Amino acid sequence: MQRTLSILKPDVTRRNLTGAVNGRIESAGLRIIAQRRIHLSLEQAQQFYAVHQERSFFNDLCTFMSSGPVVVQVLQGENAVEQYRKIMGATNPANADEGTIRRDFAESIEANSVHGSDSFENAGIEIAFFFSQMDIVG
Ligand code: ADP
Ligand code: MG
Repeated sequence: MQRTLSILKPDVTRRNLTGAVNGRIESAGLRIIAQRRIHLSLEQAQQFYAVHQERSFFNDLCTFMSSGPVVVQVLQGENAVEQYRKIMGATNPANADEGTIRRDFAESIEANSVHGSDSFENAGIEIAFFFSQMDIVG
């Protein structure tokens, strides 16, 4: 069993798609073992995405991520990190496989509906950014 951090981005909450995306997650066999709806400040978004601070899209990304509510989640399942990346689809929805969350829901390469940790190590770091042990009920 493995855990990964998921974020349903502001384009999902704005269009009332939280349940639709959660349905995809659960249908894939991933279990939502912690979940909270929050509104990130610009500073919190910058802190979360600090690894991208040199990228050209950093400022726009952080402005977008703090533009409305997000739903932060811990997902648990077999191979959860890789499994979630698979059902998310490619970063750019134009390149995402059919049936993936981003292909079916994303608005653009920036407003691409979901975040998922990219490695087991980063999953641990990202989960600890939002959740304490008491919040996580596996
Ligand atoms: P992923 O979310 O698939 O792991 P990255 O970690 O590379 O992708 O990028 C983080 C987020 O930054 C993406 O999910 C997307 O919202 C945004 N992003 C990535 N590349 C671009 C780009 N070229 N233009 C605008 N936004 C981007
Ligand atoms: Mg990433």
